[in-house]
Amino acid sequence: MDRDAMLRRVAETGRPWDVVVIGGGATGLGAAVDAAARGYDTLLVEQSDFAKGTSSRSTKLVHGGVRYLKSGDIGLVLEALRERGTLMRNAPHLVRNLSFVVPAYVWWEGPFYGAGLKLYDLLAGEMGLGPSRRLDIAATLKAIPTLEREGLRGGVVYQDGQFDDARLATTLLLTFADLGGCALNYMPVEGLGRAGERVNGVVARDLESGQAHTIAARAVINATGVYCDALRRLDDPAAVPVVAPSQGTHIVLDRAFQPGASAIMVPHTDDGRVLFAVPWHGRVVVGTTDTPVTDTPLEPRPLDEEIDFLLEHAARYLTRDPRRADILSCFAGLRPLVRSGAAATAGLSRDHAVFVAPSGLVTITGGKWTTYRSMGEDAVDRAAAAGGLEPRPSRTRTLPLHGHGPAVRRPEPWDVYGTDASALRRLAREEPALAGPLHPRLPYLAVQVVWAARREMARTIEDVLARRTRALLLDARASLEAAPGVADIMARELGRDATWRDRQVAAYAALVEGYLPPFH
Ligand code: FAD
Repeated sequence: MDRDAMLRRVAETGRPWDVVVIGGGATGLGAAVDAAARGYDTLLVEQSDFAKGTSSRSTKLVHGGVRYLKSGDIGLVLEALRERGTLMRNAPHLVRNLSFVVPAYVWWEGPFYGAGLKLYDLLAGEMGLGPSRRLDIAATLKAIPTLEREGLRGGVVYQDGQFDDARLATTLLLTFADLGGCALNYMPVEGLGRAGERVNGVVARDLESGQAHTIAARAVINATGVYCDALRRLDDPAAVPVVAPSQGTHIVLDRAFQPGASAIMVPHTDDGRVLFAVPWHGRVVVGTTDTPVTDTPLEPRPLDEEIDFLLEHAARYLTRDPRRADILSCFAGLRPLVRSGAAATAGLSRDHAVFVAPSGLVTITGGKWTTYRSMGEDAVDRAAAAGGLEPRPSRTRTLPLHGHGPAVRRPEPWDVYGTDASALRRLAREEPALAGPLHPRLPYLAVQVVWAARREMARTIEDVLARRTRALLLDARASLEAAPGVADIMARELGRDATWRDRQVAAYAALVEGYLPPFH
């Protein structure tokens, strides 16, 4: 995918786009794919890299949301379970079935959670991934050999989906391009165009050249997550905020802490949260927290107390207590929670909300990765109406995503590429230097850097190490050691000089500091 060619399309398109989507996270990419699949001329602009925001910082679960069962939100669970099934069908190379064990340490937990999870099975119906089961102590320990044994009474196992969030974002980007869509990263929207009261486009700046572009559109969708209120204020300076951001942090540990194939799900921590310890790309991801915040930096930092909370809870459930020095990486993300007052005005029946301003600007926010497709469909329905586009039905429920193909389970690191994997392998055969590993502690090869630059619009070494691969999350120190080699390849691919290379390495080193907790 050629960024320069995309930029030329923006500069040369004489007529208004049917739809311009602002924001390249799960929601914006979902809306862009939905619009392009309906045949609308669609442009997506992202201020940083695709999935740089919340969408690369999730727990990596495609799930119905067992926690909603607790609050009796059956409708939400049903919608998410349906979307889970849809995604598994449309992107089998990116979502896998995972067993989750709920350990029981108190007599009533086994029957109580067993009954709740039977309801989850029932709601999933035909979309179910396998029935939940009660486990005795031996079976629980077989599933999670390193589970704390003291007081263990057994457990319950259920099935849910797991994915790689930033790779799904990249796949949506590629799907969008396959459908004829135009997408640009490093292109923030700085203003909105107007014709009288109506929004009729955006002003976006190409950060690589510094040039501003005035872009006309019939419909504009604001899918900027926790930043959506800033965009709404560009439209109406008096707009009342609709989002209350909440930070969630994860820590990443070596697989030795939890070597089995199953995840642990703790339905109720001391302060009433749900906690997961999930095997992912050969590591274990433990999270998350839920801390209301007012600041919304693009690089939120895990708080000291969040790390303590996660270490303390992991230690309760694992035989070996993890310490700060065991943390391979830690990362924070910001949930765009819809404020309750705003939810009421939006007639909220789901956990996402769509707001249509008098100017026609459509804002979509809230929700979760699992429901990105239905969110996209809702946003485009509303945008088509607001922009006076010819009504056309959504096609994404049955739209296979890029890389979809015969159900072959490829080994890491090829699995996430789906049918593109054979082209990557061919490239590595043609240029044997690219077949080597990026770093002994990382499951990635040099060929993936070249592919990311040529085919996936990676523009910086952070794009490659944080999102096209997940090196930053799997082992922040190893990714830093790999950075100079990655910068060499990227400089060659993008035609950059030594100054660019050195600046990239320095910027990456500064970024990595935020992914390693302070040790004390
Ligand atoms: P974002 O991903 O933040 O995207 C918004 C984008 O807009 C950003 O990339 C930003 O750079 C861009 N932007 C902002 N301003 C501008 C501008 N002016 N011009 C251009 N672009 C702009 N969901 C699940 O289904 N499963 C999970 O396991 C799960 N775990 C989670 C764990 C945590 C800790 C958190 C915080 C969330 C989790 N979620 C999960 C929810 C899910 O991650 C989010 O709902 C989803 O990623 C939000 O996507 P978004 O596109 O709305 O926001």
